[in-house]
Amino acid sequence: MDTLSTNKTAGDPWLLTPGPLTTSATVKAAMLHDWGSRDCAFIEATARVRARLVEMAGGGDAYTCVPMQGSGTFAVEAMIGTLVPPAGKLLILVNGAYGERIARISRYYSRAHATLTAPEDRAIDPAEVAAALAKDPAITHVAVVHCETTSGVLNPIAEIAAIVARAGRLLLIDAMSAFGAIELDAAAVPFAAVAASANKCLEGVPGLGFVIVRKDAIAASAGNAPSLSLDLHDQWQAMEKNGQWRFTPPTHVLFAFDRALDEHAAEGGVAGRGARYRANCRLLIDGMTALGFVPLLPAGLQAPIIVTFRMPADPRFDFQLFYDGLVARGYVIYPGKLTVADSFRIGCIGRLGEPEMKGALGAIRATLADMGVRDGSPEPARRAAG
Ligand SMILES: *Cc1c(COP(=O)(O)O)cnc(C)c1O
Repeated sequence: MDTLSTNKTAGDPWLLTPGPLTTSATVKAAMLHDWGSRDCAFIEATARVRARLVEMAGGGDAYTCVPMQGSGTFAVEAMIGTLVPPAGKLLILVNGAYGERIARISRYYSRAHATLTAPEDRAIDPAEVAAALAKDPAITHVAVVHCETTSGVLNPIAEIAAIVARAGRLLLIDAMSAFGAIELDAAAVPFAAVAASANKCLEGVPGLGFVIVRKDAIAASAGNAPSLSLDLHDQWQAMEKNGQWRFTPPTHVLFAFDRALDEHAAEGGVAGRGARYRANCRLLIDGMTALGFVPLLPAGLQAPIIVTFRMPADPRFDFQLFYDGLVARGYVIYPGKLTVADSFRIGCIGRLGEPEMKGALGAIRATLADMGVRDGSPEPARRAAG
């Protein structure tokens, strides 16, 4: 692959965040045109993007892809609101803010639901899912987040999918922060639908999400959605009829996404993209650990997407100063979102490679030195002992 370091516009910071994230110059350049919504090139690009996403998920003929205008949450909401019928009941597996958001969507839509909750620093236990399904025959669908971006924890999606399939229920996956970098193959992970967006591991620009869905499931969902703009069935029907979007499409975003998918393929698809992110994650964790920082998650639960670090104990450490010092040096990180521990997060995804991760670690060392912090350990009094 061509060098990554020419990929942002000069003067822009590197985004070590869970999205929007740093995109390549060529993805940004793909937007420098205007298209009408009935433009042949646009209709063809829409069809091409849909087909490539189904293929990426190992979907084959049984699946289709329905893109949806908006951020990732719009796609998740369209998936839940359209596929869970008014008479259905959704079991939501919650170990972070995005699982909670699915519960919130269910409340807005007055869909019957139950939650199975695990702490934010643990994965969902498949055995508990099996028990919950055995106990409540009213449950028709199960929703799970593949990588819970709140902490960066990876849920055991294959085990959960097998249990849900064996119990005869339908699985809906929010794979927003994993899709394109962590394998999700419909043949190995039987799912009814998976929602993701253009602007995470697929390295497009923000503005559209999509749902890869079994054709039989979407065909059976007519009339379910209480929302017109987020009616996935209606969007699907329109696209099948004439290849067009129902309402103003995000033309520029779609062309940038098409280009981003070219670059994803050129990097070796999901395996190649995942390998770069794993290398980024390893560099980050090794470099931060050398500075005394402690990741929240054990290695076995950590997805190579975003890493949560516990807040240092040194009273001279001030997160706002730390954040601002990194921005001044050209790197943007992310505050924590956890309730279990005071923390901050650093992303491994986007058009970033070894030079950028090393650059970020250099900026972190310099910023800590400015603050007079010699140790990022979350345990107090380690310095006093020496
Ligand atoms: C980013 C993300 C979303 C969607 O967030 P938006 O801000 O609506 O794009 C949903 N689920 C997960 C797990 C995410 O990481």
